[in-house]
Amino acid sequence: MKYAIFGNATYNQEIHNKLQAINFVPEQENPDIVISVGGDGTMLRAVQHYINQINKVYFVGIKTGRLGFYTDFLPTQLDELVEVLQKKTFEVCAFNLLEYKLVGKEHSKTSYALNDLAITNPVNTQIIEVLIDGLHFETFRGTGFLLSTPSGSTAYSKSLGGSLIHPKVKAFQLTEMASINNRIYKTISSPLVLHQEQTIVLKSSNYENVVLISDGIYESFKDFDQIEATLSDKTVSFVTKLKDDFWSRVQRAFI
Ligand code: NAP
Ligand code: MN
Repeated sequence: MKYAIFGNATYNQEIHNKLQAINFVPEQENPDIVISVGGDGTMLRAVQHYINQINKVYFVGIKTGRLGFYTDFLPTQLDELVEVLQKKTFEVCAFNLLEYKLVGKEHSKTSYALNDLAITNPVNTQIIEVLIDGLHFETFRGTGFLLSTPSGSTAYSKSLGGSLIHPKVKAFQLTEMASINNRIYKTISSPLVLHQEQTIVLKSSNYENVVLISDGIYESFKDFDQIEATLSDKTVSFVTKLKDDFWSRVQRAFI
């Protein structure tokens, strides 16, 4: 097995020693397994780093961050991790990515997010036409939207009043951020859960002041006028030590 270590360097030497003792080979660019050391943010960045080879890489998280929704092992459990990897007694859980395409007049770009894509205008009222499978659904006015995956439903989406969605439900969610609702303007005002075969288009003639943040990373694409999103077939595979259901993960993190 080829492995890479991503993130906080504190435990690197210890991890290298333990993995090389079981004949694992360090390989930063084309690993079979990525060991992310840090919090969820580190894991999100590790996933982005290996996004072009996501179908052949396993991820495992060692938690030195605060919440650690994606990170299952503690630094004190390195021996357990090594044993689990050696004996292959791990479970794999796969989380679908959000696939989104930014479409501009001259070019477009497709990207992926494990948690979410935030579309926010911190300056003025953002007007967005929402289309579901090509049909006009509503005209939104407000701060913006969050598009999130089931595994991201416990992150920003939750803070916005979105539902928690079990990752085996092949769906993605659209939540509003501060919509204006009055005599003149109207939005649905509830989070929408769409199924995997559906596409949402968020169109605007004025995206100039919009800021896009994908999994906590600023997205610098400019001059787009349309965002198309769906739940991707692409998944991220995590090595976990327990036959761990999502709801126990939720309970551990929140209750
Ligand atoms: P961050 O600001 O440190 O993340 C905020 C918190 O969310 C951290 O405690 C992080 O855990 C946790 N988190 C990340 N993914 C999660 C998930 N799937 N389920 C439950 N909690 C999760 O930034 P970051 O660490 O780079 O993470 C980026 C994510 O932060 C974005 O994808 C977005 O979902 C979230 N976010 C939330 C808000 C909000 O709720 N108001 C605002 C901006 C961004 P760790 O402590 O282990 O890092
Ligand atoms: Mn963080």
